[in-house]
Amino acid sequence: MSFSSATKKELCRISATKKCCALAEACGVLLYCNAFAPNQVRIITESRAFAARLPILFQNVFGVAFDALPGTEQRGKLQLVITDPEKIARMFDLYGCMGERNVALHINFGILEEECCRAAFFRGAFFAGGSVTNPEKRYHLELVTSHYKVSKEMLVLLRDAGFSPKETSRGANQIIYFKQSEAIEDFLTLIGAPVAATQVMTTKVEKDLRNRVNRRVNCDAANVDKAVEAALEQIEAIRRLEAEGGLGALPEKLQTTAALRLEYPELTLAQLAERFDPPVSRSCLYHRLKKITELAGRRTETGRQSK
Ligand SMILES: [Zn+2]
Repeated sequence: MSFSSATKKELCRISATKKCCALAEACGVLLYCNAFAPNQVRIITESRAFAARLPILFQNVFGVAFDALPGTEQRGKLQLVITDPEKIARMFDLYGCMGERNVALHINFGILEEECCRAAFFRGAFFAGGSVTNPEKRYHLELVTSHYKVSKEMLVLLRDAGFSPKETSRGANQIIYFKQSEAIEDFLTLIGAPVAATQVMTTKVEKDLRNRVNRRVNCDAANVDKAVEAALEQIEAIRRLEAEGGLGALPEKLQTTAALRLEYPELTLAQLAERFDPPVSRSCLYHRLKKITELAGRRTETGRQSK
């Protein structure tokens, strides 16, 4: 399953029962799907989870059923269609941004006053017109719509929410995209995909650390892997102690060691030992870091036992 599909599957765990948010999500879907016009509504997706969520969402929000649904055996892209003009008219009514039939669509800000609804609207847009690249490859999340004004207004909404995405166009489509891993993490968290967000974050940390170690250490790949693994383990132990409030209770020497390891995650033991004032021996540093990881391990175990 692609990273996008996994993310959409995760998003589908959020229930769409809260009325205000369900409407906002459905509107996000309509403005970012393949067609939202008086003669047809067409939603094409690769996500089975989203295709299964849609009929329920549209029934709850608009009280309409799709006129054509994908078969259960169908592979590849799935298509959901409404062609009944009465149903579509009801959807336009409820959507609330009526106007003339050939006037360009706008985002109805009236239904987006609450923060929960804005997040739901972003989620709907991402479901129908969004994708996110596997962070192992690169950092990229985009929202694509054919409605020019909708994209401009979406940009305003996202900026209001503290994001600074970029925009571009591809043929008749307007695209808003994020290139920074932190922004992608924040967006995914906001719309309700914390697992995908964490995956972006850990990939970034590992990639950075690997690059830094590679730059510093002139040795074969196996050694780099070992050094990265050891450093990650030490950093995780320190973070765990920190989170549990145990760091301050350590002897001063261990506290200094923890602080220096966090400051220079990419240094080898020998290099890190030289950063001490006065410098310590490599084996002394080794024992201190070992002590820290042991302490963190013990605390977790006692924590587990007391539960
Ligand atoms: Zn809401």
